[in-house]
Amino acid sequence: MESRLQIIKFGGTSVGSGERIRRVAHIIIHKVLDTAEDFPVVVVSAMAGVTDQLLRIAKLASLGAYDECETEFNSLKQKHIEAAKHLSLKHEDRYNQLMHNLETAFSALQQNIDELKVSVSKTLTHEIPLRTAAVAAWGERLSVLLLAAAVCNSGVNAGPIQEEAIITEQPLSEKHQTPGTVIGAEPLIHETRVNVQKLAYPLIERQIVPIMPGFIGRTTTGLVTTLGRNGSDYSATVIGAALDCTEVSIYTDVDGVLSADPRIVANARLLPRLSYAEAARLSWFGAKVLHPRTLIPIAHLNIPVRVRNTFRPHSRGTLVGSERSQHTAAAAITIRHRLALITVENTDMFGAPENAGQVFALASRAGAAPVAICSSSGYHLSFMVEEQAADSILELLQHDMGSWRVICKRGLAACACIGSGFSVDPMSSARAITALARERIPVETQGASDSGIILIVEDQDSERALRCLHRDLIAPVIPLVRHGTQEKRREAR
Ligand code: ADP
Ligand code: ASP
Ligand code: MG
Repeated sequence: MESRLQIIKFGGTSVGSGERIRRVAHIIIHKVLDTAEDFPVVVVSAMAGVTDQLLRIAKLASLGAYDECETEFNSLKQKHIEAAKHLSLKHEDRYNQLMHNLETAFSALQQNIDELKVSVSKTLTHEIPLRTAAVAAWGERLSVLLLAAAVCNSGVNAGPIQEEAIITEQPLSEKHQTPGTVIGAEPLIHETRVNVQKLAYPLIERQIVPIMPGFIGRTTTGLVTTLGRNGSDYSATVIGAALDCTEVSIYTDVDGVLSADPRIVANARLLPRLSYAEAARLSWFGAKVLHPRTLIPIAHLNIPVRVRNTFRPHSRGTLVGSERSQHTAAAAITIRHRLALITVENTDMFGAPENAGQVFALASRAGAAPVAICSSSGYHLSFMVEEQAADSILELLQHDMGSWRVICKRGLAACACIGSGFSVDPMSSARAITALARERIPVETQGASDSGIILIVEDQDSERALRCLHRDLIAPVIPLVRHGTQEKRREAR
């Protein structure tokens, strides 16, 4: 395929209503008509709140709460029908066709819900994760239908692809999957490349914009899977790599990657450029703006990712690329919540180094990678894990490492100050610790390198910690001066 392609991905809030879907359609149309732009391939998320709603439906179906399940399903249908009405489609047949397609999708979703109920009633427990994924997958397919109709309405050809584009491995039986959560299956690169090209190229050759579902995949045996919560960013880069695209744009509801979550810090700043490594660290330590796996498929191919605001499409956003970091010291602060600190101690001195491999192998057997490794010595090793995985890890450690003392502290969070050049500035760690000390926030443990300082605090203190770290390391908060006070001062002179 000769043409240069770009991926543009829209998140849940960007397609959260009929009016917003029309706005997204304008961005797509603008890209098609602008000759300076590469041809777009679109990846879209479920409307905001819809994946949560589908998972509630799956949970209610699993618990046998059929009436509540039906009420939730009806509200989901209504939300999409309302959105369809607000697309203001010009031709009646186009509107009727969309309504027909939505109804067909609702019936297929109903069938998937019924299949889940059957698996539960026959206690076929091993089937439940994939049956849940099949239900959760419908949010993205419904968005594909709405967005394609909105684009076609403006005279640009768009092709809705409801089929799963990404081929994934068969997920392992998920230890931690409780009703209401979804699996995070891993894409198979070669199989995905073949499938994505097979779906997209015939459309692109006819100048039809492919509109593809994010988040969802299927196994080589045809079972529907998902890439995990918030996984559409990841699917956009998987699809981008499969199509050898020139750039991936992630359109969301903020101006780009900021120095902190703007919901917590009002004066968070836009970061115009980030290296792949910095962006990966930010998302690993909780910046929801990018899914932690987003950069994996494309960083080694040097494909840039631009994070931009759907509601301010002319702002340049953040460019994530292969350039080396331009930051000295902290560029951003993030929080990763719901963590536990596990410490293993050997009463037999000098046992830990040889046993570190065994400890981490056991954690990975429990399906959990350490979030951060905090400290070690000749006789102890301590590391952070997700709280939900702590019980299984503890069980395995206690079972397999009998002579070791295993301690677990829950209810913690990691505050990560991410940037570079921390080791050049001898004051950087001191400033971070002092910021917390001034607020009387104790630090449980910490880790530091040239590219970041990770401070582990009680989860209940973490937002306060983030605010004061941001204030002292990145952007001081300038207090508002009231006119009255100024006048009083002047009078006093
Ligand atoms: P989408 O639905 O578009 O995928 P998400 O809700 O997943 O959007 O991600 C965008 C949100 O990420 C923002 O609304 C913001 O609150 C949050 N966020 C957290 N940390 C950051 C950060 N450092 N920079 C920008 N946004 C952030
Ligand atoms: N719709 C999915 C979710 O809510 C994927 C995404 O939005 O990125 O998790
Ligand atoms: Mg997201």
